[in-house]
Amino acid sequence: MNINQEFETIAAISTPLGTGGVGVVRISGDKSFEIAKKITCKNNITAGKIHHGWVVDDGVKIDEVIILPFKTPNSYTGEDVIEIQCHGGVNVVRNILDVVLKNGARPAERGEFTKRAFLNKKLDLSQAEAVDDLIHAKTSNFAIQSAKNLSGVLAKKINEIKASVFEVASRIVAGIDFPEDVKEPEYSYIIEKFENSVREIDRVLACAKSSDILRQGVKVAIVGRPNVGKSSLFNALLNLDRAIVTDIAGTTRDIIKENLDLGVAVTLIDTAGIRQDDNIDRVEEIGIEYSKQSANDADLVLFLYDASFGISSEDIEIYEIIKDKTHIVVANKTDLLSEEFVPRFENTVKLSVYTKDGLEDLKEKMKNIVCSFSLEETEFITNKRQQACLERCRESLARAIAAARSCELQDMIYIDVKAALLSLDEITGEVINDEILNNIFDHFCIGK
Ligand code: GDP
Repeated sequence: MNINQEFETIAAISTPLGTGGVGVVRISGDKSFEIAKKITCKNNITAGKIHHGWVVDDGVKIDEVIILPFKTPNSYTGEDVIEIQCHGGVNVVRNILDVVLKNGARPAERGEFTKRAFLNKKLDLSQAEAVDDLIHAKTSNFAIQSAKNLSGVLAKKINEIKASVFEVASRIVAGIDFPEDVKEPEYSYIIEKFENSVREIDRVLACAKSSDILRQGVKVAIVGRPNVGKSSLFNALLNLDRAIVTDIAGTTRDIIKENLDLGVAVTLIDTAGIRQDDNIDRVEEIGIEYSKQSANDADLVLFLYDASFGISSEDIEIYEIIKDKTHIVVANKTDLLSEEFVPRFENTVKLSVYTKDGLEDLKEKMKNIVCSFSLEETEFITNKRQQACLERCRESLARAIAAARSCELQDMIYIDVKAALLSLDEITGEVINDEILNNIFDHFCIGK
């Protein structure tokens, strides 16, 4: 599809529904200007000028607004776009959207504005995906990294690799098509060029793990037997009263999760206390099973015990479960200690959640570990889809290199080269099927 093709005119509320200073209703498509003129009774709405007026519906004044008009192709979607800035109340923006829909637009689907921007070549697919990342970034760091991709950092790298593979591909094709006039490229040249491309792909893929961690966050589970202060610590780290704290063993029966920003997004998990006891009911039993699983899935485990009580055989059992995972031992309730504290395990942080003594020290240790998972300067942010395309491209190039090493017919080598180019095209979206495309934009919010 291209910019000249007709689309229906769409509209949506582009700001979050809530009470705020300003709300934005966005319209995109051929009828945008006409609708704006109708609903404001203004005939002079022109691109590049900011207009002030009232949205009126059947003579009833709806709201005093600012109109921002953009003419194709100089807009977010590449089409005619009108943005209406109104007062930011839930019902005001809804009323304005209703008037816009009544006058000729249809409600936009999820991500439809960005999808049109992609189809109209305002963004490539990696940039469109970066828009979604930017909006949903759980940390300021990931938002900054996503903005890099929006500005085209990944697209540029992919296009560089593509240009290099394409150069070899064209020489192979010329050699095949015009054997009289053009010499086939040397095998050594093919090998060298493709090895270079594989190195560049590996550079991008080397950042895959840290990309995933920046995007999804690091899972940190707090485990220990009941009553050692897990929920208290959970609340203290989050600085809120999220989990219920009591001195009754077995209060936390479920898993509670919250997000925490330590530069990297952290999902902090409070687990049911792990204990062996005949009085355990079925619900608590399931909770304990989940706890063991959470400890197992976690990237970092905080193993908590009660320093005032000392280490029990139950503590040792739990420690045995987690000791091979990345962990920090936390000796809690040190405010109740009457004697000098002697840590039993290596890597122990002394803590009193009650007085907050040691809390900053623990946070610092957590931060160091969590950041070490992800931040050897993440050069390229990629998502799973892009990583899979790069893996496929790498495999095709590796096959082409192997074939060139055994001096196979260049027609045969070309099959893998074409596959490699296709995989790269999928990343930027030059070649993409509708199902994948819809899948990507279905994750967007309405109005984006
Ligand atoms: P959980 O079962 O491991 O989640 O433990 P809780 O967080 O529910 O705490 C159990 C009890 O220990 C509560 O009465 C807390 O107030 C108390 N507690 C937690 N941390 C400390 C601490 O550092 N010092 C003291 N003195 N009491 C604590």
